Amino acid sequence: MTQLDDLPIRDDLRGLSPYGAPQQPVRVAINVNENPYHVPEVVAHRIVEAIARELPGLNRYPDREFTALREKLASYLGHDLTPDQLWAANGSNEIMQQLLQVFAGPGRRVLSFSPSYSMYPLLTRGVGSEFVTASRDDRFAVTPELAREAIEREQPDVTILCTPNNPTGTGMSLETIEAAYAATTGVLIVDEAYAEFRHDGEPSALELLPGRERLVVSRTMSKAFAFAGVRVGYFAAAPVVADAVRLVRLPYHLSALTQAAAGAALDCADVMLGQVEAIRVQRDRIVEEVTALGYAPYPSEANFVLIGGVDDPRAIFEGMLERDILIRDVGLPGTVRVSAGTEEETSAFLAALAELSRPAT
Ligand code: PMP
Repeated sequence: MTQLDDLPIRDDLRGLSPYGAPQQPVRVAINVNENPYHVPEVVAHRIVEAIARELPGLNRYPDREFTALREKLASYLGHDLTPDQLWAANGSNEIMQQLLQVFAGPGRRVLSFSPSYSMYPLLTRGVGSEFVTASRDDRFAVTPELAREAIEREQPDVTILCTPNNPTGTGMSLETIEAAYAATTGVLIVDEAYAEFRHDGEPSALELLPGRERLVVSRTMSKAFAFAGVRVGYFAAAPVVADAVRLVRLPYHLSALTQAAAGAALDCADVMLGQVEAIRVQRDRIVEEVTALGYAPYPSEANFVLIGGVDDPRAIFEGMLERDILIRDVGLPGTVRVSAGTEEETSAFLAALAELSRPAT
Protein backbone atom coordinates (compact mmCIF):
# COMPACT_ATOMS: atom_id res chain seq x y z
CA MET A 1 0.00 0.00 0.00
CA THR A 2 1.29 3.43 -0.93
CA GLN A 3 1.98 5.51 2.18
CA LEU A 4 1.65 9.29 2.42
CA ASP A 5 5.42 9.57 2.61
CA ASP A 6 5.81 7.71 -0.70
CA LEU A 7 4.02 10.54 -2.52
CA PRO A 8 6.02 13.55 -3.68
CA ILE A 9 4.35 15.89 -1.18
CA ARG A 10 6.03 19.13 -0.09
CA ASP A 11 8.92 18.50 2.28
CA ASP A 12 7.53 21.02 4.77
CA LEU A 13 4.29 19.03 5.09
CA ARG A 14 6.00 15.72 5.86
CA GLY A 15 5.29 14.40 9.34
CA LEU A 16 2.36 16.76 10.03
CA SER A 17 -0.99 15.38 11.25
CA PRO A 18 -4.30 16.64 9.86
CA TYR A 19 -6.97 18.21 12.07
CA GLY A 20 -8.75 15.23 13.53
CA ALA A 21 -11.21 15.84 16.34
CA PRO A 22 -13.11 12.53 16.61
CA GLN A 23 -16.51 12.49 14.89
CA GLN A 24 -18.57 9.67 16.31
CA PRO A 25 -22.22 9.24 17.16
CA VAL A 26 -22.68 9.61 20.91
CA ARG A 27 -25.50 10.63 23.23
CA VAL A 28 -23.68 13.73 24.46
CA ALA A 29 -21.18 15.34 22.05
CA ILE A 30 -19.46 18.16 23.92
CA ASN A 31 -16.04 17.96 22.27
CA VAL A 32 -15.89 20.58 19.50
CA ASN A 33 -17.58 23.63 21.03
CA GLU A 34 -20.68 23.38 18.88
CA ASN A 35 -24.00 24.94 19.78
CA PRO A 36 -26.11 22.07 21.17
CA TYR A 37 -29.41 23.52 19.97
CA HIS A 38 -31.01 22.86 16.59
CA VAL A 39 -31.75 25.67 14.16
CA PRO A 40 -35.19 26.92 15.33
CA GLU A 41 -38.02 25.77 13.08
CA VAL A 42 -39.20 29.29 12.18
CA VAL A 43 -35.72 30.10 10.94
CA ALA A 44 -35.43 26.77 9.15
CA HIS A 45 -38.52 27.72 7.12
CA ARG A 46 -37.04 31.10 6.22
CA ILE A 47 -33.83 29.40 5.13
CA VAL A 48 -35.71 26.88 2.96
CA GLU A 49 -37.62 29.74 1.28
CA ALA A 50 -34.41 31.68 0.67
CA ILE A 51 -32.72 28.63 -0.82
CA ALA A 52 -35.79 27.86 -2.94
CA ARG A 53 -35.58 31.34 -4.46
CA GLU A 54 -32.02 30.62 -5.55
CA LEU A 55 -32.65 27.23 -7.13
CA PRO A 56 -33.69 28.25 -10.67
CA GLY A 57 -30.65 30.52 -10.94
CA LEU A 58 -28.11 27.90 -9.92
CA ASN A 59 -26.99 27.54 -13.56
CA ARG A 60 -25.19 30.87 -13.01
CA TYR A 61 -22.26 31.59 -10.71
CA PRO A 62 -23.24 33.30 -7.45
CA ASP A 63 -22.60 36.97 -6.59
CA ARG A 64 -18.82 36.90 -6.22
CA GLU A 65 -19.01 39.84 -3.83
CA PHE A 66 -21.87 38.38 -1.70
CA THR A 67 -23.19 41.94 -1.44
CA ALA A 68 -26.43 41.20 0.42
CA LEU A 69 -24.63 39.03 2.96
CA ARG A 70 -22.02 41.70 3.65
CA GLU A 71 -24.75 44.26 4.28
CA LYS A 72 -26.43 41.93 6.77
CA LEU A 73 -23.15 41.09 8.51
CA ALA A 74 -22.33 44.80 8.86
CA SER A 75 -25.67 45.56 10.43
CA TYR A 76 -25.42 42.50 12.71
CA LEU A 77 -22.02 43.61 14.06
CA GLY A 78 -22.96 47.29 14.48
CA HIS A 79 -20.01 49.48 15.54
CA ASP A 80 -20.80 51.72 12.53
CA LEU A 81 -19.27 49.15 10.21
CA THR A 82 -20.00 49.45 6.49
CA PRO A 83 -20.48 46.50 4.10
CA ASP A 84 -17.13 47.15 2.39
CA GLN A 85 -15.44 46.42 5.73
CA LEU A 86 -16.92 42.92 5.84
CA TRP A 87 -15.68 39.77 4.14
CA ALA A 88 -17.00 36.21 4.40
CA ALA A 89 -15.79 32.70 3.58
CA ASN A 90 -16.58 29.05 4.25
CA GLY A 91 -15.97 29.11 7.99
CA SER A 92 -13.49 31.25 9.87
CA ASN A 93 -10.91 28.57 9.09
CA GLU A 94 -11.10 29.69 5.46
CA ILE A 95 -11.04 33.33 6.59
CA MET A 96 -7.81 32.59 8.44
CA GLN A 97 -6.38 30.71 5.47
CA GLN A 98 -7.14 33.58 3.08
CA LEU A 99 -5.58 36.11 5.46
CA LEU A 100 -2.45 33.98 5.82
CA GLN A 101 -2.25 33.52 2.06
CA VAL A 102 -2.08 37.29 1.57
CA PHE A 103 -0.19 38.44 4.63
CA ALA A 104 2.04 35.43 5.43
CA GLY A 105 3.32 32.89 2.84
CA PRO A 106 6.82 31.53 2.16
CA GLY A 107 9.64 33.13 4.12
CA ARG A 108 7.27 34.86 6.53
CA ARG A 109 6.50 34.26 10.20
CA VAL A 110 3.26 33.87 12.14
CA LEU A 111 3.05 34.32 15.91
CA SER A 112 0.43 33.09 18.32
CA PHE A 113 0.27 32.71 22.11
CA SER A 114 0.08 29.10 23.17
CA PRO A 115 -1.91 27.20 24.08
CA SER A 116 -4.34 28.36 21.41
CA TYR A 117 -6.43 27.05 18.52
CA SER A 118 -4.81 23.95 17.05
CA MET A 119 -5.43 24.99 13.44
CA TYR A 120 -3.14 28.04 13.57
CA PRO A 121 0.08 26.01 13.11
CA LEU A 122 -1.47 23.86 10.38
CA LEU A 123 -2.88 26.81 8.45
CA THR A 124 0.45 28.58 8.80
CA ARG A 125 2.46 25.65 7.51
CA GLY A 126 -0.08 25.15 4.73
CA VAL A 127 0.92 28.54 3.30
CA GLY A 128 4.63 27.79 3.74
CA SER A 129 5.24 30.13 6.69
CA GLU A 130 7.10 29.59 9.92
CA PHE A 131 4.92 29.24 13.03
CA VAL A 132 6.28 30.62 16.29
CA THR A 133 4.65 30.77 19.70
CA ALA A 134 5.01 32.85 22.83
CA SER A 135 3.80 31.95 26.31
CA ARG A 136 0.80 33.14 28.22
CA ASP A 137 0.97 33.78 31.96
CA ASP A 138 0.15 31.05 34.48
CA ARG A 139 -3.60 31.78 34.15
CA PHE A 140 -3.35 31.68 30.33
CA ALA A 141 -3.77 35.44 29.98
CA VAL A 142 -1.75 37.60 27.58
CA THR A 143 -0.76 40.85 29.26
CA PRO A 144 0.22 43.95 27.24
CA GLU A 145 3.85 43.36 28.30
CA LEU A 146 3.83 39.71 27.16
CA ALA A 147 2.34 40.73 23.81
CA ARG A 148 4.81 43.57 23.27
CA GLU A 149 7.87 41.53 24.26
CA ALA A 150 6.94 38.57 22.07
CA ILE A 151 6.26 40.73 19.03
CA GLU A 152 9.49 42.68 19.47
CA ARG A 153 11.40 39.41 19.82
CA GLU A 154 9.80 37.46 16.95
CA GLN A 155 9.07 40.29 14.48
CA PRO A 156 6.10 38.38 13.03
CA ASP A 157 4.44 39.25 9.72
CA VAL A 158 1.12 38.09 11.17
CA THR A 159 0.11 37.85 14.84
CA ILE A 160 -2.98 35.90 15.84
CA LEU A 161 -4.69 36.68 19.14
CA CYS A 162 -7.58 34.38 20.00
CA THR A 163 -10.15 35.83 22.41
CA PRO A 164 -11.99 34.20 24.05
CA ASN A 165 -9.13 31.77 23.62
CA ASN A 166 -9.60 28.19 22.53
CA PRO A 167 -8.91 25.88 24.42
CA THR A 168 -8.60 27.91 27.65
CA GLY A 169 -11.68 30.20 27.47
CA THR A 170 -9.55 33.19 28.51
CA GLY A 171 -10.60 36.69 27.49
CA MET A 172 -8.21 39.50 26.56
CA SER A 173 -8.14 43.18 27.44
CA LEU A 174 -8.28 45.87 24.77
CA GLU A 175 -5.02 47.18 26.27
CA THR A 176 -3.29 43.95 25.21
CA ILE A 177 -4.70 44.17 21.69
CA GLU A 178 -3.72 47.83 21.41
CA ALA A 179 -0.21 47.03 22.68
CA ALA A 180 0.16 44.18 20.18
CA TYR A 181 -1.00 46.41 17.33
CA ALA A 182 1.37 49.21 18.31
CA ALA A 183 4.30 46.79 18.55
CA THR A 184 3.92 45.24 15.09
CA THR A 185 4.29 46.46 11.55
CA GLY A 186 2.53 43.29 10.41
CA VAL A 187 -1.12 42.29 10.42
CA LEU A 188 -2.89 41.58 13.71
CA ILE A 189 -5.74 39.07 13.52
CA VAL A 190 -8.06 38.87 16.53
CA ASP A 191 -10.01 35.62 16.33
CA GLU A 192 -13.33 36.25 18.11
CA ALA A 193 -15.01 32.96 17.14
CA TYR A 194 -16.64 32.79 20.59
CA ALA A 195 -17.34 36.51 21.08
CA GLU A 196 -21.09 36.23 21.65
CA PHE A 197 -20.55 34.05 24.73
CA ARG A 198 -18.48 36.64 26.66
CA HIS A 199 -19.75 37.84 30.02
CA ASP A 200 -21.63 41.14 29.79
CA GLY A 201 -19.34 44.13 29.52
CA GLU A 202 -16.35 42.23 28.13
CA PRO A 203 -14.93 44.21 25.19
CA SER A 204 -14.61 43.33 21.49
CA ALA A 205 -11.68 44.26 19.30
CA LEU A 206 -14.25 45.69 16.87
CA GLU A 207 -14.03 48.83 19.02
CA LEU A 208 -10.40 49.25 18.00
CA LEU A 209 -10.91 49.08 14.21
CA PRO A 210 -11.17 52.81 13.46
CA GLY A 211 -7.77 54.08 12.38
CA ARG A 212 -6.09 50.65 12.52
CA GLU A 213 -5.85 49.34 8.96
CA ARG A 214 -3.66 46.33 9.87
CA LEU A 215 -6.19 45.01 12.42
CA VAL A 216 -8.60 42.25 11.39
CA VAL A 217 -11.37 40.88 13.62
CA SER A 218 -12.53 37.39 12.67
CA ARG A 219 -15.91 35.94 13.63
CA THR A 220 -17.98 32.87 12.76
CA MET A 221 -21.60 31.76 12.49
CA SER A 222 -20.55 28.26 13.64
CA LYS A 223 -20.86 28.76 17.38
CA ALA A 224 -23.35 31.25 18.83
CA PHE A 225 -25.40 31.20 15.60
CA ALA A 226 -25.75 27.39 15.68
CA PHE A 227 -24.71 27.26 12.02
CA ALA A 228 -21.55 25.10 12.01
CA GLY A 229 -22.88 22.83 9.27
CA VAL A 230 -23.29 25.68 6.78
CA ARG A 231 -19.69 26.93 7.03
CA VAL A 232 -19.79 30.72 7.29
CA GLY A 233 -17.04 32.77 8.86
CA TYR A 234 -16.34 36.45 8.30
CA PHE A 235 -14.06 39.30 9.23
CA ALA A 236 -14.34 43.02 9.80
CA ALA A 237 -11.42 45.29 8.89
CA ALA A 238 -10.53 48.32 6.81
CA PRO A 239 -12.00 48.01 3.28
CA VAL A 240 -8.48 47.68 1.87
CA VAL A 241 -8.04 44.37 3.72
CA ALA A 242 -10.98 42.93 1.78
CA ASP A 243 -9.28 44.19 -1.40
CA ALA A 244 -6.14 42.32 -0.40
CA VAL A 245 -8.02 39.08 0.22
CA ARG A 246 -9.56 39.27 -3.27
CA LEU A 247 -6.08 38.46 -4.58
CA VAL A 248 -6.21 34.94 -3.14
CA ARG A 249 -9.85 33.93 -2.76
CA LEU A 250 -11.14 31.41 -5.26
CA PRO A 251 -13.64 32.90 -7.70
CA TYR A 252 -17.20 32.48 -6.38
CA HIS A 253 -15.95 30.83 -3.16
CA LEU A 254 -19.25 31.36 -1.33
CA SER A 255 -22.00 29.33 -2.99
CA ALA A 256 -25.40 30.86 -3.73
CA LEU A 257 -26.91 28.37 -1.26
CA THR A 258 -24.54 29.40 1.51
CA GLN A 259 -25.20 33.08 0.87
CA ALA A 260 -28.96 32.53 0.91
CA ALA A 261 -28.91 30.41 4.06
CA ALA A 262 -26.64 32.80 5.95
CA GLY A 263 -28.66 35.83 4.87
CA ALA A 264 -31.91 34.26 6.08
CA ALA A 265 -30.29 33.28 9.39
CA LEU A 266 -28.98 36.83 9.89
CA ASP A 267 -32.47 38.20 9.21
CA CYS A 268 -33.51 36.15 12.26
CA ALA A 269 -30.42 36.91 14.35
CA ASP A 270 -32.41 37.37 17.56
CA VAL A 271 -34.01 33.94 17.26
CA MET A 272 -30.77 32.29 16.16
CA LEU A 273 -28.95 33.73 19.16
CA GLY A 274 -31.84 32.86 21.47
CA GLN A 275 -29.99 30.05 23.23
CA VAL A 276 -26.75 31.94 23.88
CA GLU A 277 -27.87 32.92 27.37
CA ALA A 278 -28.85 29.33 28.19
CA ILE A 279 -25.42 28.17 27.03
CA ARG A 280 -23.68 30.82 29.16
CA VAL A 281 -25.67 29.61 32.17
CA GLN A 282 -24.49 26.02 31.59
CA ARG A 283 -20.89 27.24 31.06
CA ASP A 284 -20.92 29.03 34.42
CA ARG A 285 -22.62 26.03 36.01
CA ILE A 286 -19.81 23.73 34.81
CA VAL A 287 -17.21 26.05 36.38
CA GLU A 288 -19.09 26.10 39.68
CA GLU A 289 -19.93 22.40 39.91
CA VAL A 290 -16.56 21.01 38.86
CA THR A 291 -14.95 23.30 41.44
CA ALA A 292 -17.19 21.69 44.06
CA LEU A 293 -15.94 18.29 42.84
CA GLY A 294 -12.37 19.42 43.60
CA TYR A 295 -11.22 20.38 40.08
CA ALA A 296 -9.67 23.69 39.05
CA PRO A 297 -11.53 25.08 36.03
CA TYR A 298 -10.16 28.14 34.25
CA PRO A 299 -12.50 31.15 34.03
CA SER A 300 -14.23 31.03 30.64
CA GLU A 301 -15.66 33.72 28.34
CA ALA A 302 -16.54 31.07 25.72
CA ASN A 303 -19.04 28.21 25.42
CA PHE A 304 -16.60 25.67 26.85
CA VAL A 305 -14.53 25.18 29.97
CA LEU A 306 -10.97 23.97 30.37
CA ILE A 307 -10.95 21.92 33.54
CA GLY A 308 -7.64 21.72 35.39
CA GLY A 309 -6.63 19.52 38.28
CA VAL A 310 -7.37 16.33 36.32
CA ASP A 311 -4.95 13.58 37.41
CA ASP A 312 -5.50 11.35 34.41
CA PRO A 313 -7.16 13.14 31.46
CA ARG A 314 -7.07 9.98 29.34
CA ALA A 315 -8.96 8.01 32.02
CA ILE A 316 -11.62 10.73 32.25
CA PHE A 317 -11.93 10.83 28.46
CA GLU A 318 -12.33 7.03 28.28
CA GLY A 319 -14.68 6.92 31.27
CA MET A 320 -16.89 9.54 29.61
CA LEU A 321 -16.88 7.67 26.32
CA GLU A 322 -18.02 4.51 28.12
CA ARG A 323 -20.99 6.61 29.26
CA ASP A 324 -21.61 7.79 25.67
CA ILE A 325 -20.22 11.28 26.37
CA LEU A 326 -17.54 12.69 24.06
CA ILE A 327 -15.25 15.33 25.59
CA ARG A 328 -11.86 16.68 24.46
CA ASP A 329 -8.39 15.90 25.67
CA VAL A 330 -6.55 18.87 24.14
CA GLY A 331 -3.17 17.52 25.19
CA LEU A 332 -2.60 20.07 27.96
CA PRO A 333 -1.29 18.16 31.00
CA GLY A 334 -3.82 17.79 33.80
CA THR A 335 -6.80 19.13 31.83
CA VAL A 336 -9.82 18.19 29.76
CA ARG A 337 -12.05 20.57 27.79
CA VAL A 338 -15.84 20.35 27.63
CA SER A 339 -18.39 22.43 25.73
CA ALA A 340 -21.48 23.68 27.49
CA GLY A 341 -24.36 21.53 26.26
CA THR A 342 -28.06 21.72 26.93
CA GLU A 343 -29.04 21.56 30.59
CA GLU A 344 -29.63 17.79 30.24
CA GLU A 345 -26.31 17.18 28.48
CA THR A 346 -24.44 19.23 31.06
CA SER A 347 -26.17 17.33 33.87
CA ALA A 348 -25.16 14.03 32.26
CA PHE A 349 -21.54 15.19 32.04
CA LEU A 350 -21.46 16.46 35.63
CA ALA A 351 -23.04 13.28 36.99
CA ALA A 352 -20.51 11.18 35.07
CA LEU A 353 -17.63 13.32 36.32
CA ALA A 354 -18.82 12.94 39.91
CA GLU A 355 -18.89 9.17 39.41
CA LEU A 356 -15.44 9.08 37.82
CA SER A 357 -13.99 11.30 40.56
CA ARG A 358 -15.12 9.15 43.45
CA PRO A 359 -12.21 7.34 45.12
CA ALA A 360 -12.25 3.64 44.28
CA THR A 361 -13.63 1.60 47.18
N1 PMP B 1 -11.30 29.91 15.54
C1 PMP B 1 -11.42 29.24 16.68
C2 PMP B 1 -10.78 29.81 17.90
C3 PMP B 1 -12.12 28.04 16.75
O1 PMP B 1 -12.20 27.38 17.90
C4 PMP B 1 -12.72 27.53 15.57
C5 PMP B 1 -13.51 26.24 15.55
N2 PMP B 1 -13.29 25.33 16.49
C6 PMP B 1 -12.56 28.26 14.40
C7 PMP B 1 -11.87 29.45 14.42
C8 PMP B 1 -13.10 27.79 13.09
O2 PMP B 1 -14.47 27.71 13.06
P1 PMP B 1 -15.30 27.75 11.71
O3 PMP B 1 -14.36 27.41 10.58
O4 PMP B 1 -16.35 26.74 11.91
O5 PMP B 1 -15.81 29.14 11.60
